[in-house]
Amino acid sequence: MHVTENKGLMVNAGSKLLIDGNSASNVPVILSHAHSDHAKPRKGKNYFASLETTALLEKNFPESNFTSVPFNKKISFNDLSVSLHFSGHMLGSSQIKIENEKDLLVTSDFNLHKTILFNEAEIIPAETLVIESTFGLSKYAFPSREKIYEEMIEWINAGIQKNEFIVLGGYALGKAQELTAVSSLLCNETPLVFKSIYENNKVYESFGVKLGDFIELNYNLNEANVLIMPPQLITEGMIESIKKSVKKNVSVAVASGWNNSRYKNFPLSDHADFNQLIQYVKESNPKKVITYHGYARELASFINRRLGIPAQPLNKHFQLGLTDFQ
Ligand SMILES: [Zn+2]
Ligand SMILES: [Zn+2]
Repeated sequence: MHVTENKGLMVNAGSKLLIDGNSASNVPVILSHAHSDHAKPRKGKNYFASLETTALLEKNFPESNFTSVPFNKKISFNDLSVSLHFSGHMLGSSQIKIENEKDLLVTSDFNLHKTILFNEAEIIPAETLVIESTFGLSKYAFPSREKIYEEMIEWINAGIQKNEFIVLGGYALGKAQELTAVSSLLCNETPLVFKSIYENNKVYESFGVKLGDFIELNYNLNEANVLIMPPQLITEGMIESIKKSVKKNVSVAVASGWNNSRYKNFPLSDHADFNQLIQYVKESNPKKVITYHGYARELASFINRRLGIPAQPLNKHFQLGLTDFQ
């Protein structure tokens, strides 16, 4: 089995498979989840993805063709057997296991924190592990989810008690649904949510994910104490106009593993932190590790030195012969 990164993750094991990309030829394409940096479906093209990912993508890409694949069920592409396993990152997010006489697991984006919405990723044994390395530096160690939730409840309730209006920033797909549940279920505050968030919330609910109550934002700022919106739309101008409209002070917090916001930050990451990346590698017990996304070089070097497992980053346009390491 060979793996190359070139507009997606190309797995070549006699037959070929492309993960999270677009193929010019007839290579089957599997999409690990619905985030736009992984899934860019094109008109008339065919894609395989989990049931949930298919539901999220179909509404934005009605001109692409999706075949949904249930979790934990093997399907065949020529001589390759493929199965999807929940990755704990967002609704429908999948790890991808590929087997012939060898086996290879691609974690894609994953999370080992159990959240208010989902269980953590299942750790899957693999001979070759291709693992994301977004937070592949030891300084990225996040507090437990419970602790972050406690701090959020305290901060939100304290603000509301001071008669403030609370704005929570989180990406419309994935983070905003967790924020909806934190506000609605943990703080008992039915939030207003932007239209894009409202629509994604509805898809989550259609799969039985419990978010509590929420209201679509539509010139109705006075109906709630909390507003959930995409962080890139939070500007000084936006905050000023909210202030004028609700006639209250406005407190802003953003939920992200990357603390690069000038507002209050809650490290509600939907990726594994450094310790969880290492935990995954140890428990998956691979003979060879390939790292990709974020701090790939740094994580590979740590795995080589500290765990004694051959590891290297997957560089763009650089082909690795995985069989060389077995
Ligand atoms: Zn993602
Ligand atoms: Zn990603």
